[in-house]
Amino acid sequence: MTILDGKALAEKVKAEVRAEAERLKAGLAVVLVGEDPASQIYVRGKERDCGECGIQSFSHRIPAETTQAELLALLAELNEDPKIDGILVQLPLPGHLDTRQVLESIRPDKDVDCFHPLNVGKMTLGREGFRPCTPAGVMELLAAYDIPVRGKRCVVIGRSSLVGQPLSTLLTQADGTVSLCHSKTPDLAAYTREADILVSAVGRTGLVTADMVKPGAAVIDVAMNRGPDGKLSGDVDFGPVSEKAAFITPVPGGVGPMTRAMLMRSVLYAAKLHRE
Ligand code: NAP
Repeated sequence: MTILDGKALAEKVKAEVRAEAERLKAGLAVVLVGEDPASQIYVRGKERDCGECGIQSFSHRIPAETTQAELLALLAELNEDPKIDGILVQLPLPGHLDTRQVLESIRPDKDVDCFHPLNVGKMTLGREGFRPCTPAGVMELLAAYDIPVRGKRCVVIGRSSLVGQPLSTLLTQADGTVSLCHSKTPDLAAYTREADILVSAVGRTGLVTADMVKPGAAVIDVAMNRGPDGKLSGDVDFGPVSEKAAFITPVPGGVGPMTRAMLMRSVLYAAKLHRE
């Protein structure tokens, strides 16, 4: 069994980004509304990643009471700022703000998270453009460890527009045969037991047990569940499943660092678009 080392691969990706991002003076604006502790940690992580990748980060920490109009005005400014190649609004936003309108007001050529409907459409059609960071990170891990997708049975558990849905699209485009499962899927194990590549993106500790896994499968755990003790765990019962799988991602240290590295790659991609 091989543990897919997302941390090491992310370092490699970030080093590659750095080689070009400094020369291009790539810039990322991160907008954090309010003081949600988890969001603050994520934003600090992104600032650190930018530092490591030679990307200039421009952080906007604004009060939780910020109105929709004020936030849209800030985004309009960032949209026009030539120093900014990518704009990231940290989610979730406070409840009084309209997340959809906010995300759709980011100019598509600066939408490094790939949330804008135009970019989602281009991704779905297989056209060149941004890719959502977590699904892209999963694909990068599979490729780096020479895990073939073509002709393989892939099962993705979780159909969110952030992870499961776009990942099922990318796996299909890589010639996998994909089942996208969710909370209404009857007999989940009947699907997972057939999977050569099994991805869990649900957010429920212990959901994927060893009896649900095909011997020799590649098991990718996207989930990041924080327990009452503050410890992170995934959906997969790591110990027993790792005895059955051929490849498995750890949590932490698997998909998480890859997501962050893919964001840096997206900013570089945007910088290239803007300099060309
Ligand atoms: P989400 O929007 O809550 O979606 C969860 C999905 O799981 C839904 O499609 C839901 O089905 C499905 N589901 C719930 N219970 C299920 C069950 N018992 N059996 C089968 N499917 C079930 O979550 P998300 O944003 O996609 O995130 C999923 C997990 O990934 C979370 O733990 C999150 O923290 C983590 N995450 C990690 C990264 C990373 O960088 N590693 C990035 C993003 C998210 P329905 O659609 O039917 O409700």
